[in-house]
Amino acid sequence: MKNRKVILGAGESGTGAALLAQKQGYDVFVSDFSAISPKYKKILSDNNIHFEENKHSSEFILNADEIIKSPGIPEKAPVVKEALDKGIKVISEIEFAARFTNAKFICITGSNGKTTTTELIYFILKNAGLNVGIAGNVGQSLAEQVANFNYDFFVIELSSFQLDGMFEFKADIAILLNITPDHLDRYDYDFQDYIDSKFRIVNNMTKADKFIYCADDEIIQREVEKRKINADMYPFTIKGEVTKGAYTIDNELKIIIDKNIFSMGADKLSLDGIHNRYNSMAAGITSKLSEIRNEELKSSFSNFEGVEHRLEKFIKVRGVRFINDSKATNVNAVWYALQTYEEDIVLILGGIDKGNDYSSLKELVKQKVKAIVALGNDNSKIFDAFFGITELYDTKSMDEAVVKAFSLADEGELVLLSPACSSFDLFDNYEDRGRKFKQAVREL
Ligand code: ADP
Repeated sequence: MKNRKVILGAGESGTGAALLAQKQGYDVFVSDFSAISPKYKKILSDNNIHFEENKHSSEFILNADEIIKSPGIPEKAPVVKEALDKGIKVISEIEFAARFTNAKFICITGSNGKTTTTELIYFILKNAGLNVGIAGNVGQSLAEQVANFNYDFFVIELSSFQLDGMFEFKADIAILLNITPDHLDRYDYDFQDYIDSKFRIVNNMTKADKFIYCADDEIIQREVEKRKINADMYPFTIKGEVTKGAYTIDNELKIIIDKNIFSMGADKLSLDGIHNRYNSMAAGITSKLSEIRNEELKSSFSNFEGVEHRLEKFIKVRGVRFINDSKATNVNAVWYALQTYEEDIVLILGGIDKGNDYSSLKELVKQKVKAIVALGNDNSKIFDAFFGITELYDTKSMDEAVVKAFSLADEGELVLLSPACSSFDLFDNYEDRGRKFKQAVREL
């Protein structure tokens, strides 16, 4: 059949793609290998979109002229391989949705900091009165918003999985925050493949487009020197000055665009930590390129409340501050979390280890962490890594971990949940883990 779009996966992204494809007049079929959640099933049914669940029927899927694949489905999935072998194009929802809007795309990728930076940019642009939407891994799918709204700008968080399914897409502004090993299981443990995937964000860019990147990240810097990138380049750094881009020196954040200088005390940023200086510099360059006025940018920088589960300052109990950093699912995020605080820390660490190398944390743990409360079904790797460096405790539930951590912390100290691991051994996901942490703290 002609113009048949098959959508694999019926979550936020797949359902959005289905709605947009139908609106554009395509023949649409949605297939999910698992059960589809009631919410999305209802949307599909209400819109008379054909779907199947708990299976992938090759006879329907392989007569598509194009497949839109949700980012959660690996390229290695048999049905995807079959389709590719048959020469059917497999694209991401973002690639598909971008065909049907003239909005400007501000795209953010990196191993850590994507959601924070995406939300921060959205907050700044929206406060300044721009007609802007937010999409990607956060909130509603791009496709559904393209179907239903008419925005001038989209701020889009892009994971490497989404980038892998993007071919003709072009960002107007692209941000690359950092590259550290993560998700390597999806890249056959080949780090360069993962790097190449992140750099797809600059594909198709021209001189008129802007590429904002972290010059302190050795991998990014090396790749920038090696590759021929057409875009206008805006580096950011805390290790020196630049004449174009952004830098932070002596606690002063400066953004320089066309010789105009924006300057602000870094201690006035509402977000703590060096990593958030990087995120803020990237957001600041984007804002100035989008002609946000200095006063408006300053006010948004100072008022942004941060994102839940990312170094979220939770309550104090008898002088002990609790911090929820449940989204820290890799070692690098924990490194920045430990860097952020001056106080002594009781660290709750653990979960499912994705092949972590804890060696980069050892020095900081020695300096700042008075005890580690390991929380997971199997905490042996954490015990091996930190044995002799700090006190170690083994726990198997959030309640137990929080009670133990609280008993170890003195007034003026911190209990930090920053697990370095994914959460699926004991929790539904990182949000569930963060919420249960806060619940356990409330019950102290
Ligand atoms: P992502 O969407 O890329 O997973 P988030 O903004 O959700 O990023 O943050 C994930 C974790 O990484 C949190 O623990 C957060 O504190 C930490 N983080 C945020 N920005 C950075 C950064 N630039 N570098 C390293 N870690 C960061």
